[in-house]
Amino acid sequence: LDKQREGSHYRFYSKEIDTRIFRKLEIKNQLEFALGRDEFTLSYQPQVIAKTQQIVGVEALIRWKNNKLGLITPTEFIPIAEEAGIIIPIGEWVLETACRDAKTWFNKGLPQLRLSVNISPIQLIHDQFEEMVNRVLKQTGFPPENLELEITENVGLYGLDKSLTTLQRLRAMGIGLAIDDFGTGYSSLSYLVDLPIDTIKIDRVFVQNLNTNSKLMTLAEAIIKISKVMNFQTIGEGVETLEELKGLDTLECDQIQGYFFSKPVSTEIMAELLKNGISVETDLRNEDIGA
Ligand code: C2E
Ligand code: MG
Ligand code: MG
Ligand code: MG
Repeated sequence: LDKQREGSHYRFYSKEIDTRIFRKLEIKNQLEFALGRDEFTLSYQPQVIAKTQQIVGVEALIRWKNNKLGLITPTEFIPIAEEAGIIIPIGEWVLETACRDAKTWFNKGLPQLRLSVNISPIQLIHDQFEEMVNRVLKQTGFPPENLELEITENVGLYGLDKSLTTLQRLRAMGIGLAIDDFGTGYSSLSYLVDLPIDTIKIDRVFVQNLNTNSKLMTLAEAIIKISKVMNFQTIGEGVETLEELKGLDTLECDQIQGYFFSKPVSTEIMAELLKNGISVETDLRNEDIGA
């Protein structure tokens, strides 16, 4: 930044940076009290088999409403919670709440499904992570085989060795592992060999406009082919349109998550969805059913 030449620009940028730093500080301050004030909730989004519209999984997504700041997206506050270390208690709250809610659905006799919970790399390298997961499973009675942890490729940035040991031990307990936002992180593909992966989540950047963009279609096809040979299941993320759904269906993507089938909803509405099923008009249904 050349402050001698453009004094006014300098002031403009510096003011913008001030505002950003102030916002971040505000969020950090409010985050310290958010758990105690019961300001978090979870939303759940179904993961669906395209042709049958059967819900086989749900992803838990955190929501935060603060009196002073209003609604703050996880994209904004999770990195700050990570930096401040508050992600540790928040992450525990998320896992416990999600397991309790899903156990409630199971107890009502609703179909058993996979519960996916996002895990920050900071949680994964935390000394008591495995202990915490064990405690939560025990306290809630949630079956480990129905739990899947979603991590991103960025776990590698925090030292894969430690995470790897933890992930292998969790896998031995029956817990599944999904790679979230596949293809957008800072990793080499070698972790696909090293990590005990069950599921690849194809990021929305590859899904958006898939069926009208041949480059994207080719890329998604390659990701799904790699997953098939590696024995991973695939979930297409952020599917909003019938065109995108059809594209992924053509490529034999295993499951679909996105607004097209359902936005993230409350635990009560999720229970309703599980009870009544999803029924969205697609012409995929006729192909396999009743044939
Ligand atoms: P993610 O794990 O990749 O979650 C998917 C995000 O895509 C969610 O945003 C979801 O609401 C959104 N989404 C789902 N379907 C569609 C669609 O069809 N179109 C579009 N445009 N978006 C769709 P959300 O809930 O705002 O979460 C953003 C990110 O914050 C998550 O990305 C995840 O990385 C993080 N996050 C959310 N909850 C938690 C949590 O409990 N713990 C941690 N560590 N991170 C979380
Ligand atoms: Mg996720
Ligand atoms: Mg994702
Ligand atoms: Mg994402």
